[in-house]
Amino acid sequence: MNQSLDSRDLIRASSIHRVLEIIGDRWVAVILQQCFLGVHGFEEFQRRLDIPRSTLSARLSMLVDQDILSRAPSSTPNQRLDYLLTEKGRDLFDTALMALAWQQQWVPRFNQPAVRHLGCGQPMTPMMVCHECSKPVDAREVTFRDGPGASWITRNKRRRRRTTAASSSRQALAVSEELLDLIGDRWTPQVVALGFFGIRRFDEMQKTLKLASNILTDRLKRVVDMDIFRQRQYQSRPPRSEYLLTEKGFSLYPMLMAMTQWGDRWCAGPEGPPLLFRHEACGKPLKGVVICNQCQSPLKPDTTEAII
Ligand SMILES: [Zn+2]
Ligand SMILES: [Zn+2]
Repeated sequence: MNQSLDSRDLIRASSIHRVLEIIGDRWVAVILQQCFLGVHGFEEFQRRLDIPRSTLSARLSMLVDQDILSRAPSSTPNQRLDYLLTEKGRDLFDTALMALAWQQQWVPRFNQPAVRHLGCGQPMTPMMVCHECSKPVDAREVTFRDGPGASWITRNKRRRRRTTAASSSRQALAVSEELLDLIGDRWTPQVVALGFFGIRRFDEMQKTLKLASNILTDRLKRVVDMDIFRQRQYQSRPPRSEYLLTEKGFSLYPMLMAMTQWGDRWCAGPEGPPLLFRHEACGKPLKGVVICNQCQSPLKPDTTEAII
């Protein structure tokens, strides 16, 4: 690590960081979920999510600007525009599926399959496997090193007010508060991701993410409360703790990997991905593929349906 570059606002380029700058927001998470459920009209988003119109309008415009949604003349009478997922937007499907798989495993009220695979007709749990050896992706079998896009970037210091509502009309949501707390925020997943890079101590975390200490403290408390990290004291005077991933934390890896792969595909510069991952189980570069756990076929938005 080049210490001379380690000044106040520089962080290492990270695909997860780039992705969360776009989608790390509670409203964006639930809007995208509705898109995958086939919702495309402004009024229908508004009704299902009970979202303030100006907030909805701002989030939809942002998603259009980011080329995740596109506007098209509406197919519904009395509506002007539809918002449709672009190829880039549909490509977020793996991330959405792995978020649902995590929720199914760890949030008791959501312990039934949320998706049916139309290919085999079965309710199923999405699973990420290695493209080369078909073994389920486990963080403990993946190593990483700098990729061609490794660099230092200036952290975006734009402040965004945290959304706390975003879940009033619960029937329409197959998403738990717990999952929204986790992914509907641009810092929480980045704090969790540090665990996978072996960064465990507060000062190291702060140095890596360049976060204000109150924000880091808040997010750490949240993930400890959620049992994603556990605290272990490594020094008693003064007391200092490090943060270690629990099993619940480890099982977030496929979702974070799906997010990373999306960021590598859509947000990395021409130089390429900031990090390269290797699947030690087979020795090949890691490419995670999300499949149906019943029939092992890769999953696409048009071959799955939600079970509500
Ligand atoms: Zn492999
Ligand atoms: Zn299947």
